[in-house]
Amino acid sequence: MTRRIAIVGAGQSGLQTGIGLLQQGYQVTLISNRTGEQISAGRVMSSQCMFDNALETERALGINFWENDCPPVQGIGMTVPDSERAGQALINWSARLDKPAQSVDQRLKMPVWMDEFVRLGGELVIRDAGIDELEELAASHDLVLIAAGKGEIVRLFERDAERSVFDKPQRALALTYVQGMAPAEPYSRVAFNLIPGVGEYFVFPALTLNGPCEIMVFEGIPGGPMDCWQDVSSPAQHLARSLEIIRTYAPGEAERCTDVQLTDDNGILAGRFAPTVRKPVATLPSGRAVFGIADTLVVNDPITGQGSNNGAKCSRVYLQAILSRGDAPFDTAWMQQTFETYWRYAQDVVSWTNSLLLPPPEHILNLLGAAQRSPALAASIANGFNNPPDFMPWWLEPESCDHFVNEQLKRGLK
Ligand SMILES: Cc1cc2nc3c(=O)[nH]c(=O)nc-3n(C[C@H](O)[C@H](O)[C@H](O)COP(=O)(O)OP(=O)(O)OC[C@H]3O[C@@H](n4cnc5c(N)ncnc54)[C@H](O)[C@@H]3O)c2cc1C
Repeated sequence: MTRRIAIVGAGQSGLQTGIGLLQQGYQVTLISNRTGEQISAGRVMSSQCMFDNALETERALGINFWENDCPPVQGIGMTVPDSERAGQALINWSARLDKPAQSVDQRLKMPVWMDEFVRLGGELVIRDAGIDELEELAASHDLVLIAAGKGEIVRLFERDAERSVFDKPQRALALTYVQGMAPAEPYSRVAFNLIPGVGEYFVFPALTLNGPCEIMVFEGIPGGPMDCWQDVSSPAQHLARSLEIIRTYAPGEAERCTDVQLTDDNGILAGRFAPTVRKPVATLPSGRAVFGIADTLVVNDPITGQGSNNGAKCSRVYLQAILSRGDAPFDTAWMQQTFETYWRYAQDVVSWTNSLLLPPPEHILNLLGAAQRSPALAASIANGFNNPPDFMPWWLEPESCDHFVNEQLKRGLK
């Protein structure tokens, strides 16, 4: 008998999983609180830079529709400006990624994936799902996945106090989508600027509704000078504030921005949230269980650009687990086990991302400084974004980190 799966949320994980299941002959109902038109006419939601391993999960389903149009992100750059000497940097290096990353504006991507979902025979329901809808779905489907990202409904899932390091937002976030920025030379990159005591600014190429663009991402330490969006009340002011910040704190980047304009009035975002890990199963009043996926359960600060990557990878883990389950029930033991399979990967992403939200310990400053002298080390750091478990455990342990650095430096001398 055909198995029926319901998914709440038409984002990275919900649509990717829904499409994957339809391709395997499952019956899928997807509940979205917005139509495709509303999503494309709305605000940007993310900077959504995805690295090769995550892009592979989309290629495997044949839904990499923007592969040829989206400008590639070819490397990672790291700059720590010198606050004492204007225009100078304490650390400044870049390295190529082995394979390019890409960022496709979710306003462009999700509506097309919604069409693809319907084309494959999926039932798309436009409604904001609350408890009543979840009860209905749970009664009529073999499995209900909650892929609601940062939606209110994810509060149904209990916060996992042991796995959640923070209970408050660690950065004031802002996005500014622009066109007209001078390209990074000699190759495109996520250009990170770590500004001690202030926060981080990074920028990279992407594809948006009206063509290629660059996405400026601001990560301000709460209460610091980059936590400065509350009084901004128009898109023009948002752009002006963005430029003011980089002229002050990342002047090297400001040189690329003499001629920028917003992609559109919705190409801006400001907000904050606490990085959180939740328990994977929620029980409805009826006693039926629903199962969370991706950001619903593991939401990271965007500082390392991992959320969509996690969403894609989590989707692949769940898809495989659903397929291998055959006709057996999707009981809570299976849900727990499936989440733990994902967590074995995600825990390293969480530890690495959380470590970057705290003031950098000496071994990390040494590491980032040594990368300037060692292309091999710089390349290891850059390519770790594609698979953060490669950073573990040495990233967190001063002695192992020093050992790793020394080995890489020796390799460079041979
Ligand atoms: C500022 C910022 C920058 C980021 N930059 C990056 C980056 O560079 N790289 C990266 O990998 N990740 C990045 N992310 C994170 C990434 O966008 C998310 O992790 C990813 O989109 C999560 O996918 P998801 O499927 O879990 O949820 P989402 O993509 O958030 O989708 C959830 C969907 O569910 C819908 N929904 C919610 N509640 C309901 C309901 N009750 N009923 C029906 N529908 C509902 C929502 O409208 C939404 O469409 C960034 C995030 C932010 C905020």
